[in-house]
Amino acid sequence: MDPNCIFCKIIAGEIPATVIDRDKDFIAIADVNPQAPTHLLVMPIKHYPNLNAFIDVLSNTVIARLFAFAAHLGASAGKGAGYRIVINTGPNGGQSVDHLHIHVLAGRHMSWPPG
Ligand code: 5GP
Ligand code: ZN
Repeated sequence: MDPNCIFCKIIAGEIPATVIDRDKDFIAIADVNPQAPTHLLVMPIKHYPNLNAFIDVLSNTVIARLFAFAAHLGASAGKGAGYRIVINTGPNGGQSVDHLHIHVLAGRHMSWPPG
């Protein structure tokens, strides 16, 4: 728990959020500023500041389980029409909250390239 991290505060129940799914290691919440009909944030409960920190520390098993957790929610929300997952990393990646999270977007067609 990082006391300065907004997502850690949400996980601790100190800030309200819509929790979509949760297990012992991961949580999925609804993004407060959705960019698609479904816009979820899937993240480890433990604070890792970004994808690099997560990959450096954790086993392949945990990483695979996080991606499976996100993919399962995306497939469900996408109703067979697909979805997009995004991990913004660092300033050039557009990361604004330094607690690793996967954006899961579904419910509309996504354009490419990203902005
Ligand atoms: P990033 O820019 O780091 O990739 O994504 C951060 C995301 O967190 C943004 O999509 C933003 O809308 C979302 N967000 C920021 N603060 C809150 C909050 O307090 N609650 C929820 N549910 N989402 C938040
Ligand atoms: Zn955190």
